[in-house]
Amino acid sequence: MTQRDVMEFDVVIVGGGPAGLSTAIHLANLVERHNAEVQKSGVGEALAPQICLIEKAAELGAHSISGAVLDPKALDQLVPGWRTAEPKAPVEAEVHDDYVLWLGEKGGFKLPVTPPPLKNHGNFVISLNKMVKWLGGIAEQKGIQVFPGFPGAVLQRDGNKVTGVQLGDSGVDKHGQQKGNFQAGGILAGKLTVLAEGSRGSMSKQLIADLGLQGKNPQVFGIGVKEVWEVPAGQCPPGLVVHTMGYPLDSKTFGGGWIYGMGQTEGGKNLVSIGLVVGLDYRDPTMDAHRQLQRMKLNPKVAAFLKGGKMLHYGAKSLPEGGLYSMPKTFGDGFVLVGDSAGLMNSMRLKGIHLAMRSGMLAAEAAFECLKKGDFSAAATAVYDQKMKADWLHDELWQCRNFHQGFHKGRLWGLLNAGFAQFFGGKGAFWSDELKSEAGHSYMQQLGAYFGGKGKPAQDKLPQDGTLTFDKLTSVYASGTMHEEDQPCHLVVTQPDLCATRCVEEFGNPCQHFCPAAVYEMEAKPGTKHGVDLKINASNCVHCKTCDIMDPYQVINWVTPEGGGGPNYTNL
Ligand code: SF4
Repeated sequence: MTQRDVMEFDVVIVGGGPAGLSTAIHLANLVERHNAEVQKSGVGEALAPQICLIEKAAELGAHSISGAVLDPKALDQLVPGWRTAEPKAPVEAEVHDDYVLWLGEKGGFKLPVTPPPLKNHGNFVISLNKMVKWLGGIAEQKGIQVFPGFPGAVLQRDGNKVTGVQLGDSGVDKHGQQKGNFQAGGILAGKLTVLAEGSRGSMSKQLIADLGLQGKNPQVFGIGVKEVWEVPAGQCPPGLVVHTMGYPLDSKTFGGGWIYGMGQTEGGKNLVSIGLVVGLDYRDPTMDAHRQLQRMKLNPKVAAFLKGGKMLHYGAKSLPEGGLYSMPKTFGDGFVLVGDSAGLMNSMRLKGIHLAMRSGMLAAEAAFECLKKGDFSAAATAVYDQKMKADWLHDELWQCRNFHQGFHKGRLWGLLNAGFAQFFGGKGAFWSDELKSEAGHSYMQQLGAYFGGKGKPAQDKLPQDGTLTFDKLTSVYASGTMHEEDQPCHLVVTQPDLCATRCVEEFGNPCQHFCPAAVYEMEAKPGTKHGVDLKINASNCVHCKTCDIMDPYQVINWVTPEGGGGPNYTNL
């Protein structure tokens, strides 16, 4: 049995994104204020909680990627002086203009009216990577013990009670044998564990399943694929926000694109963020979000923004799009779930950072109450749920509670549904609380059903010219992704026999398409039933979790790889 060091903490935060860091900063602030009050009044006891935060990326921000237009509501509450005090928050540009482009294959037009949820005046184009680094600096200044490069591997539990986290081992070879540099992952014992792992967090997924925490609907996800470009000055002014609808997605597939003018780097580069979100409840077994983004850029209206430019960065992530009724129960004995791990996203506004930050703050307030009482039971952590329900966060989620589900009947019905919701302030007859959804992968159709028995068609050739459009390997290179090669595969296929047999026949191995990083490959293998077998190029993985979500047989389990591995996002 492996010997593991145990370190004791009051609060263990798993994940150094906006939700986890907001929890840490706000909790430190609350403790600071409380202690100052105790000192002044001489009443009560000072608190000195041990708080740590772990992050699987080698440094904070390296795995953080988002659209990203920030609604500053939560940041105003967390760091009130961020606009003027030093160090100021790293925003790229304030939004000064926004509109929606409706795209066809060969062109498009600007909608005469921007739907209210897509209006962004007063918001800020940001790089989430930079914002997270900045928040990390504040957390460290406040005495939070921040450990980057340490993935949470196994939740420690005593029945339904969460008691901490076991960190991942390092120095294990691909056959599971210890190497010379083996280090056993320690155990961070915590009275309260805050799960801020992001979308489809591996430990959160297990906990939600084990304790039956899922809400009325299963979570429905989307995948966002994104590039950052350097373009000639003036081509896409800083603070311009363009959302796209229509092409390249068909009317039965949920999703849309964006083009944001980011601003200028210190070196004088004019940056543009461009991306596409595709609902992970599509029907087409050959759907490929990376490929769809390349098609979108071929549209002349979109290409005009990128003309003469250069792609600098690439990334992908999943997003929890199901809304209020797809949220899990967010608290229990010794734990709370925050941010994307709690399914907090407003898919009508394509925004989640402000909700992630706010949920972190409310979790901090609940943690503070627990610390004062010395009680971390489910009855005590329930304060978090009560605070969320009384907050603007809940009001916002209520307004868009069935937005994504409305699109299951197609784009037109979805837009009508969203329009009625806006008109009636979320109370309209079309905005029924009974819109149900299934898990996203169950909507994928088999080849025969989707292509009408004609089999999988040859894909149309995309001009991957290396200037405007790129193949997946070029894109992976631009994500900076690296993993230690000699380690156990972190993409655990629990029934590998399915891949070269049933999946070939039924779905045509959709993993080759839905993975935006060319991780899954069907390579020739003479002697097998279909002459192919699955090869997993795990070191390409950008940690988007799409395979874990969208595999039609649900036999892919994404687990944390060795600490520090994964993408190295900058400006994303
Ligand atoms: Fe995303 Fe899975 Fe591909 Fe990794 S292997 S990039 S998690 S789809």
